Amino acid sequence: MDSPLAARFDAGNRPSSAQWSYTAALLNRFGDALLAFDKQLVCRIANASALELLGTSADHVTGLHARQVYPPEHVDRVVAQLEAALGGEVSRTRAWRDLPSVGRRCLDARVEPCLDADGRIVGALHSARDVTEVAEAEERARLAMMMFEHTTEGLMVLGADRRVRLVNPAFSALTGYPPGEVLGERPDLLVAGGTQNHNPYLDIWHALEYDGTWQGEVIYRGRDGKLLPTWQTVVRVRDGEGDLEHYLAIFTDLSERQRFEQQLERLAYYDVLTSLPNRALLSDRIAQAISRAERTGGGLALLFVDLDRFKVINDTLGNSQGDRLLRAVSQRLGEAADDGATVSRYGADQFLLLLPELGSPDQAATQAGRLLLALAAPHEAGGQTLTVTASIGIAVFPDDGEDRETLVQHAETAMQAAKRAGRNTFRFFTQDMNQRSAEFLLLENHLRQGLARDEFRLYYQPQIDLKTRKVIGMEALMRWRHPEMGLVPPNRFIPAAEESGLIVPLGRWAMKEACRQNKAWQAAGLLTAPVAVNVSARQFAEQLDEVAAEALAEAGLASEWLELEVTESTLMDDVNEAILTLGKLKRMGVRLAIDDFGTGYSSLSYLKRFPLDKLKVDRSFVIDILDDPDDAAIAGAIVSLAKNLRLTVIAEGVETAQQLDFLEQLGCDEMQGFLVAAPLPAEKVADFLADWHSGKV
Ligand code: C2E
Ligand code: CA
Ligand code: CA
Repeated sequence: MDSPLAARFDAGNRPSSAQWSYTAALLNRFGDALLAFDKQLVCRIANASALELLGTSADHVTGLHARQVYPPEHVDRVVAQLEAALGGEVSRTRAWRDLPSVGRRCLDARVEPCLDADGRIVGALHSARDVTEVAEAEERARLAMMMFEHTTEGLMVLGADRRVRLVNPAFSALTGYPPGEVLGERPDLLVAGGTQNHNPYLDIWHALEYDGTWQGEVIYRGRDGKLLPTWQTVVRVRDGEGDLEHYLAIFTDLSERQRFEQQLERLAYYDVLTSLPNRALLSDRIAQAISRAERTGGGLALLFVDLDRFKVINDTLGNSQGDRLLRAVSQRLGEAADDGATVSRYGADQFLLLLPELGSPDQAATQAGRLLLALAAPHEAGGQTLTVTASIGIAVFPDDGEDRETLVQHAETAMQAAKRAGRNTFRFFTQDMNQRSAEFLLLENHLRQGLARDEFRLYYQPQIDLKTRKVIGMEALMRWRHPEMGLVPPNRFIPAAEESGLIVPLGRWAMKEACRQNKAWQAAGLLTAPVAVNVSARQFAEQLDEVAAEALAEAGLASEWLELEVTESTLMDDVNEAILTLGKLKRMGVRLAIDDFGTGYSSLSYLKRFPLDKLKVDRSFVIDILDDPDDAAIAGAIVSLAKNLRLTVIAEGVETAQQLDFLEQLGCDEMQGFLVAAPLPAEKVADFLADWHSGKV
C-alpha cells in the first residue's frame, strides 16, 4: 500500500524511516479520521479514514490549504474551528453530515490545537469518528421507547425468572396497576380466576419453550376487580448468543371489540326500534324448530300478528308517538308470550310469534287469546288514551305447511281472515281461506269497477215513533247491483270496501245520494224527517265533517235532516278523534246515532263524552228478546242507560208485534224492522208513505 502519510512529511523533523512507517501504519489502522494542519492551516497529515470520508487520496490533500481540503458545504465551519484551535480552543460536535463521498453519516468530531513537547501550539488537529451505527441504534431505541410509552397496547417485559421487569403506561391504564405494584411480580397476579379453565400462563410457558411465541385470549382482572378480556402475543426474546434474556408480552383490550361485535350482531339480528328479533333471526329459529319437529314428530305454530288500523293511528299521532306505541306493543307481546316463544318484528306493524314446541293447536289459541288480552289495555300516547287491537292468524306445522315460507304465508292469510271477521280476533288457517282471500281481491276489483259504473243504490228503511206512529226517519242502506252477481248484500262487500279504503269514496257517494233523495222527498211534500246514513271508521279519518257539509250543501238540505249512524267500535277506535269529529258535526247541526249498541265494549265514561242524540239497540238483542231472559235484561239495561243519558232509543230488527210490545214496555221510543217495512228502493218509498199514512200498513 502506498503510504500517503509519508508523501510530504516535513523533512526537518523527520523521524527514522522505520519509525515513521510504524506510525503511518498505526494511523491508517485507526478507525477515526485524522487530519493535521500546520499554523498556516496547510494539511500535513491525513490518515486513510480521513481520505475515505473526504473521498480523495493523500496526494490531493497533503500540502493543500484547509479551504481546499473540505467539501464546499462544510469548509467555512471547519476552517473556523481550525482557526479557533490555533487560538487554543477545543470544539466538539456530533452531527449528521451529508458527505459527497460516503453519503449521510453521523460524525463525532473534535477540532483541537496540536501542541509540541513544550506545549506550544504548532497546528490544529481534526479528528472525526463515524458513529452512524450507534446513532441509528440510539434513534431506534428512542423510537422504540416512544412506542413503548405511547402505544395503546399493554406491554410487559418479563425477565428470565418470569417476573415483571418493565411495563408501559398503557399496561397501567388497562389493568389499573401502577408499575410499582407489578414490578418483580409474576404475571399470574393479573389472571382472573374462575373465568378460564386454568391459569393460562401454564400454556403460555409451555408454548414459549417450544415455539418461542404464543397468541391467545387471556382474561385479566383489573386492579378495580373488573374483568379485562385481552388478546395477547407473548414472545421469547434471546440475546445474540441464544441465551434466554426476556419475554415480551403485548396485549390489546378485547372488551371494546367484543362490545362492537355484540353491537354488530344486534344490528344483524334484532330490530332497532323494538329490540325484538328481526326477520333474519326468526327465519333461523323457524328453521331450527322445523327440523326439531321433524325429528321428534312434534309440532310448532306461527302467529301472524297485525295491528288493526295502525296506519291511521300513526298518521294522526305522528311518527315518534307511533314509534313509542310500537315499542309499548312489542313489550306487551313479549310479556304475554309463552316461555320459549320467539316474538319478532316482521313489518312496520306486524309481528310474528313462533311457538316452537306445540303440544296441541289449543295451545296456539290460548296464546293468541293472551296476546289480544295483553294489547287490549289502553295506551297513553301524546296525552291521549288509545287502544291498539290486533288481528292474529295462526298456521300450524305440519298441517298448514311444511316449510317456512308456506307457514308464514298461511299465517298471514289467516290473519287477513281475522281482519275480515271484524278485527281484534284470531283465526286458524284453513285451506279454503286461500280461496277466500283470492275472492276478496277479486271483490275489491269489482267494487272499484262498480263505483265507476254507478252500480250502487241506496235502499231506505222507515223508522217509526212508537207514541205517534209517525215516520220519523229513513235509514239509508247500501245495495250493490252487480251485472253478474246480482244484488250483493252489504255484509258481503262493506268489509272489503273498508279494508281497501274504497269505503271512503263509496261512503261519500252514499252521503250525497241520501241527502239528494231526502231533499227530493221533502220538496215533493212526502217526508219531513231525517235520513240516517251509516258511516265506517275509515271515514272518520278522512274529514267526515267536511264530506257531510259538502253533501248537505250540494243537496240544499238543512243539516237537521241528516243523521249519521256510527258503530260503537268505530267510536272506540280512536276516542279522542271521534269526540273531535262528532263535536264538529254536532255544531253543524247534524244528528248522531250510535249503531249496534251493546255489541262493542264502550265504557260508560266515554259514552257520556260523545255528543249523541240516539242509541240503536242492536238487532241481536231484539231477535231473542222474548225467549232469552239475558237478552231481555240487556235490552232493558240499554234502554234505561239511554234514558239516563237523555238519548232517544230505537230498536232495530223488530219483526213481530210481540217483540214490539215488549220493547214498548221497556220504554223504547222508536223502532224499525220488517214488522213495518224492509229496506225499500227509493221509488217504493212514496207508495209506502201513502199506505202508512192511510193506515194500510
Ligand atoms: P245495520 O246498520 O245494523 O243495518 C241494519 C241491518 O238490519 C240492515 O241490513 C237491514 O236491512 C237489516 N234489517 C232491518 N230490519 C230487519 C229485520 O226486521 N230483520 C232482519 N233480519 N234484518 C233487518 P243490511 O241492509 O244488509 O245492512 C247490513 C249492514 O251493512 C248494516 O248494518 C251496516 O252496518 C252496513 N251498511 C249498510 N249500508 C251501509 C253504508 O252505506 N255505509 C256503511 N258504512 N255501512 C253500511
Ligand atoms: Ca245502521
Ligand atoms: Ca245496526
